[in-house]
Amino acid sequence: MHSLSDISKHDLESLFDHIHAAVALVDRDGNLISWNASFDSGKQKYPDAKNLVDLFLQRDGDALRSKLREGGKSHWVGEFATQNSDASELRYFWLIPTLDEKIIFIAERLDTEIATEDIVGKLHRQVKLFKVESEHSKKLARNKQIEMEAVITQAEEVAHVDPLTFLPNRRTIIKDMQSEVTRAERYRSLFTISVVDIDRFKNINDNYGHPVGDEVLRHVAIQLRDGIRHPDVVGRYGGEEFIILLPNSDQNAASEQAARLCKLIREAKVKIKDQEISVTVSLGIAQFRPGEDSWYSLLKRADNAMFEAKSMGRDRWMIGD
Ligand code: GH3
Ligand code: MG
Ligand code: MG
Repeated sequence: MHSLSDISKHDLESLFDHIHAAVALVDRDGNLISWNASFDSGKQKYPDAKNLVDLFLQRDGDALRSKLREGGKSHWVGEFATQNSDASELRYFWLIPTLDEKIIFIAERLDTEIATEDIVGKLHRQVKLFKVESEHSKKLARNKQIEMEAVITQAEEVAHVDPLTFLPNRRTIIKDMQSEVTRAERYRSLFTISVVDIDRFKNINDNYGHPVGDEVLRHVAIQLRDGIRHPDVVGRYGGEEFIILLPNSDQNAASEQAARLCKLIREAKVKIKDQEISVTVSLGIAQFRPGEDSWYSLLKRADNAMFEAKSMGRDRWMIGD
């Protein structure tokens, strides 16, 4: 069967080294077979890494391992190579199965000003370069692809919902935020986001146990979902962090909402068995600035404002500058 190895190895290596994204060829267990210059510069932080999974944080690594075992063919937004650096880097990740049971891994930086669509388009063009197979193997690949796409469609229906809270998950809420940013930029419409973080959540876990912590998380998720108004949406961004998108709203509207949500959550105690648990949240607000903000800088400003609200004493909101 013809496969990637049909392209001269030398041509492939020089092609890879001219691609800005980090590219690596791995087997299904994630063992690194070869990689390009851009990948190598990231890998230098982990000189002993023999496996792609070693370059991720534990939680993300576990998710990656199962994606690889499933045979690749997926893409997602996530954090990369954060262990030795202070700032985590958001990246677009792609897994593309080759015909000889290996997997091509691509990581493209996301914190640039290039529109996401452009990045995706570029990656698609890069992927096309690999499609130099004979008619026969193309047919085989096509069947395999149709099969995979059916599985992926099913998986994606489940994949946009967070299983604990039933809110849109991280990937979905980020995608929605990106669309709203594009829209606000194009039409100069108002757009504001709020980042919500549960206060002292670690204490709740420590004092009552993880299952009660999960119950509190679900409770806060319901309060947030019921406390916002159409067309606002809330999604679970991380462990105990949420993002609210407020299309056509400015920071004053978001402030009113934040005040309401703080009160709602403070007053609605969680009842578990005979116990009543109090929970509060801190919010950070950022209004989109056309011509200036990217979705990532918007999120950063909201995040910073949230941390400021924490340092001012929690159970409150701040507007990012
Ligand atoms: P702060 O007020 O500064 O936000 O304090 P905090 O304790 O909430 O902050 P920190 O980020 O230190 O702790 C968050 C905790 O949330 C740590 C982690 O164990 C817990 N956590 C994250 N995801 C889940 C989850 O799905 N379920 C439970 N029960 N806990 C989780
Ligand atoms: Mg947190
Ligand atoms: Mg917290």
